[in-house]
Amino acid sequence: MQYTSTRSLCSITAAQAISRGIAGDGGLFVPGSFPQLTAADFSSLCAMDYKQRAEKILSLYLTDYTSEEIAHCVAGAYTGTFENEAPAPLKEVAPGMNLLELWHGPTCAFKDMALQLLPFLLTTAARKAAPGKTMVILVATSGDTGKAALDGFADVPGTRIVVFFPRDGVSPMQKLQMQTQAGANVAVCAIEGNFDDAQTGVKAIFADPAMRETLAAGNMEFSSANSINFGRLVPQVIYYVSAYCDLLNRKTLKPGESFNVTVPTGNFGNILAAYYAKRMGVPVNRFICASNKNRILTDFIATGTYDRNRPFYTTDSPSMDILISSNLERLLYHLSGDHSAVAKAMASLKSEGKYSVPAELLAALQKEFFGGSCDDEATCATIRELFEKHHYLCDTHTAVAVNVYEAYKHATGDDRPCVIASTASPYKFARAVLSAVNGGAVLPPDEFAMVEELSRITGTPIPGPIAGLRTKEVLHRASVAKNGMAKFILDFLK
Ligand SMILES: *Cc1c(COP(=O)(O)O)cnc(C)c1O
Repeated sequence: MQYTSTRSLCSITAAQAISRGIAGDGGLFVPGSFPQLTAADFSSLCAMDYKQRAEKILSLYLTDYTSEEIAHCVAGAYTGTFENEAPAPLKEVAPGMNLLELWHGPTCAFKDMALQLLPFLLTTAARKAAPGKTMVILVATSGDTGKAALDGFADVPGTRIVVFFPRDGVSPMQKLQMQTQAGANVAVCAIEGNFDDAQTGVKAIFADPAMRETLAAGNMEFSSANSINFGRLVPQVIYYVSAYCDLLNRKTLKPGESFNVTVPTGNFGNILAAYYAKRMGVPVNRFICASNKNRILTDFIATGTYDRNRPFYTTDSPSMDILISSNLERLLYHLSGDHSAVAKAMASLKSEGKYSVPAELLAALQKEFFGGSCDDEATCATIRELFEKHHYLCDTHTAVAVNVYEAYKHATGDDRPCVIASTASPYKFARAVLSAVNGGAVLPPDEFAMVEELSRITGTPIPGPIAGLRTKEVLHRASVAKNGMAKFILDFLK
């Protein structure tokens, strides 16, 4: 399997794609083709546990890794790190409505599914592609990636990690999770800006030849733990294939029958992984792309124009407060197969803040993707309703997905079984979730009191990693202006 950039043709291995993170032309690495799963493959996958399914899927993409290497990576990522041996349980909450719970890992958000595996994939890749070098992982986070990457990379030999988060754009729990991270190789810094500023800053540092040279002089190399790295994407494909196998095993689906997938979307990584699963042979009918009030993807899917010239809102689902959905670039490439069209669209996004796709591409997109959005009020109402009707407590991001899934069924009448990605524990967003279910009572004064109150009135357990935060010491208090990111990195690496 060879990988190319979305913006110009090149041919590199998986290890090279994962260790570099982003292409030299600013594009993202994508596989040259999609491996195909046959009916026989599916029946053997159905008989496997999650780790075995992971090994099978990874071996199809990472063809330059040995099977021993892949087994080592998978065992390291998914043994003893998740609440149970099935890291991605599929819960049927109501007929046809299957919540794929992706938040039973160490940081209580779906990012763990990929970020427990990425350090193993990356250090294995570096041994092949850049032996002896220290990998410096740069992360821009809207809240959950930062902690998941820190947890995955803390004290991993041969790596250092720097995380930037928007100072006023993450939940108190998210901030505390990051600021208490231990590890000799970690740095965490707030920036005075929003997530897009953090992501743009990190991309600029990647592209800066002077920074690259400085690192090279110290035998170091940048890489990325953001979902622009193919090593983040491929672990996410696994759980969609796995969910399909679970639906077959439960007889919710017969072989050949299709289902829908709904994903609460920000950077477009998670939903893109579902699209990859479809391209491999998983029979997904429609991808329902759910956004919060920052509904840039909803508008794009409706009109074919991607326009970031609009207000940016901070919402109760902060991990989706994003106006530049990086992974959409990969989908544009897969739908068009046209490097120069993608490069032009991305150049236009940079200079004008917008681009439009041709009518044929829009038609192809709309055939497979449905976009919808809801605001904080509707998110809250959905949390309350789901809890009252089905006694299922979900977080704010998952609630956006459930809301848009209901809107999709209403708009289309399509009620075939659906897998809805449940992306975070409700306890990560205790204030909003509690105010959705406490019948309008006054909120307790602090975040941990809210967590306890939430557990008390819903009868659901507080996840260990959240309960444990209360006694942890804050180790990282740095905060810099948008233009101070490069200096912060260089000071840390000195
Ligand atoms: C990151 C995140 C999302 C958005 O996922 P993308 O892959 O960026 O689209 C949704 N929900 C939660 C809880 C997240 O942490």
